[in-house]
Amino acid sequence: MADTQSVVSDVKLFLEKLKKDLPEVFGKPEETATTDGGTAPVAITPANRVLYNGDLYEARMYVTPDQEEGVAFDGNAFHVYLQTPQADPSALVTQWLRDKASETLTAKTQEWAAKIGVEYNHVVFKDQRTLWASCSGKKNINYSYRIIKMPPVVQDYLVIHELCHLVHMNHGPEYWQLVGQFSPDYKNHRRWLNDHKDAVFEDVKLTPPQDQTQVIATSAPIQNTTTNAE
Ligand SMILES: [Zn+2]
Repeated sequence: MADTQSVVSDVKLFLEKLKKDLPEVFGKPEETATTDGGTAPVAITPANRVLYNGDLYEARMYVTPDQEEGVAFDGNAFHVYLQTPQADPSALVTQWLRDKASETLTAKTQEWAAKIGVEYNHVVFKDQRTLWASCSGKKNINYSYRIIKMPPVVQDYLVIHELCHLVHMNHGPEYWQLVGQFSPDYKNHRRWLNDHKDAVFEDVKLTPPQDQTQVIATSAPIQNTTTNAE
């Protein structure tokens, strides 16, 4: 038995179909969509990838002028919200990774220092391109934010590696014995680091939506549009 609700939705469906078939009767559908608050973002570049916690995730980019720019990660993909097609999605994602590195590695350092029974001074983040981490004579632990791209167990190994230097300021047998107590698979983690260092040190490279706009623009005749070519 058809209730009022389903009749209403049938009529709606019929009208939607009519809109598509006869747009001149209802006005241009694109215009009504954009003035409607712009709640449905349009994915521009679905093919980009970001390395995070040892996995590659898709980065989906959206141009949403009426929304604050930023990055959201939902466990499956990165969603990058840009205010203009000229905005730099790589910079936004890099900042997101830096913030995540700061939060995650600071917590891991506290946690492992308590377990190992050592005290450190400060945790410092640097954009080190050739060094994952280091430990200074002043008991400061320095990390490259790029560590956040590694699997969490490898992140833990690097934290343990630096904290164990607070006990042994060398890489002697006693030092490695201590590391092995807290990171039993450290040899595998060192292998992972060696095999993936290029990917970890590489900068985030996402194709800005601007590039796609330019591709479209080059095939079109020169018009009265503003571009940033000069
Ligand atoms: Zn070391």
